[in-house]
Amino acid sequence: MLDNLTQRLAKVVKTMRGEARLTETNTAEMLREVRLALLEADVALPAVREFIANVKQKALGEEVIASLTPGQALVGVVQRELASLMGADLGPEASQLNFATQPPAIILMAGLQGAGKTTTVGKLAKYLREQKKKKVLTVSTDVYRPAAIGQLQTVTEQVGADFFPSLTTDKPVDIALAALDFAKRHYHDVLIIDTAGRLGIDEAMMHEITAVHAAVKPIETLFVVDAMLGQDAINTAKAFNDALPLTGIVLTKLDGDARGGAALSVRHITGKPIKFAGVGEKLDGLEAFDPSRMANRILG
Ligand code: GDP
Repeated sequence: MLDNLTQRLAKVVKTMRGEARLTETNTAEMLREVRLALLEADVALPAVREFIANVKQKALGEEVIASLTPGQALVGVVQRELASLMGADLGPEASQLNFATQPPAIILMAGLQGAGKTTTVGKLAKYLREQKKKKVLTVSTDVYRPAAIGQLQTVTEQVGADFFPSLTTDKPVDIALAALDFAKRHYHDVLIIDTAGRLGIDEAMMHEITAVHAAVKPIETLFVVDAMLGQDAINTAKAFNDALPLTGIVLTKLDGDARGGAALSVRHITGKPIKFAGVGEKLDGLEAFDPSRMANRILG
C-alpha cells in the first residue's frame, strides 16, 4: 500500500519538530515526497517539474513562512495548487458544453482507439437528451471498422437519440457533411461526430480528423483520454492538441483504480478544461469533472 501524501508529509513534519519555519532544506525534503507521490500517480515528468517549481515558489513566499504550522501550510499549498491546475479556478461553467451557435451545435470526438470515444458519445447523447432536452444526432466517420459504426448505432439507439448511418466506402469528410445536412433538415440541436482512432498516434489519422474539423467547424472538439494511460498521456495529448483546436477534455475510466495522473499531464499540455469524467461502461456513467476531487485522488 502506498502512503497517501498527507501521511508522507506528516512523517517529514515529525522530523522537523522544533523547526518553526519552512526553510530551503525542510521544504526540499517535503517537495521530494510530493514529487514521488505525483510520479506514482503516473503524472508525466515535465508536468511534475512545473508543479514542484510552482509550489516551491509559493511555499517560500510570505504566507507559508509566517504560518505557525509550516508543514500543514505546505500541504495546503500543494492541494490548492493541484486543484487549481485541475481547473478549480475556472469555475463550474468550464465543464459546460458550448451551444452558442446556429443549431446544430457540432461536437467532434477525438482520441486513440479504446479511449472510450464511442461510449462517451452514447453518454453525452443521453445527458443532452435527458438533462438538456436536446434533439441529438450521432454519426461515425470510422470507415475502417464497420464494428465501430455498429457500436455507435447500438449506444445511440439505447439512449433514444438519432443515428446517421455511414457507408465505409464514403470519405470521412463527406460522411460528416452529409450528417450535418441531415441534422439541419431535421432540426437536430446537436450533432455528435465520432471519429476513427488508432492504437497509437498516426499521421494519416491526424490528417483525417483535421480535415473533418475544417469541413464542419465544430463548436466543441473534445479530446477523450483514458485515465489509466499513464506516462503516455502527455505525448498523446500533445499530438491531438497540436493537430486540433481542442475545446475540452473527457477523462474516461475514472471508475478504475488509476490515480489519474493523466489528468495533470493533459492539463499541462493543453490548458483546456476537463469537462467530463467517464465513470463506468454503462451509458449513465458520465459526471461533470470535479477538479478538487481529482486533486485529492492524485495525491492519494
Ligand atoms: P473508442 O475506441 O475510443 O470508441 O472506445 P470505446 O468507447 O469502444 O471504449 C473502449 C472500452 O472502454 C469499452 O470496453 C468501453 O466499455 C470501455 N469504457 C469506456 N468508457 C469507460 C469508463 O468510463 N469506464 C470504464 N470502466 N470503461 C469504459
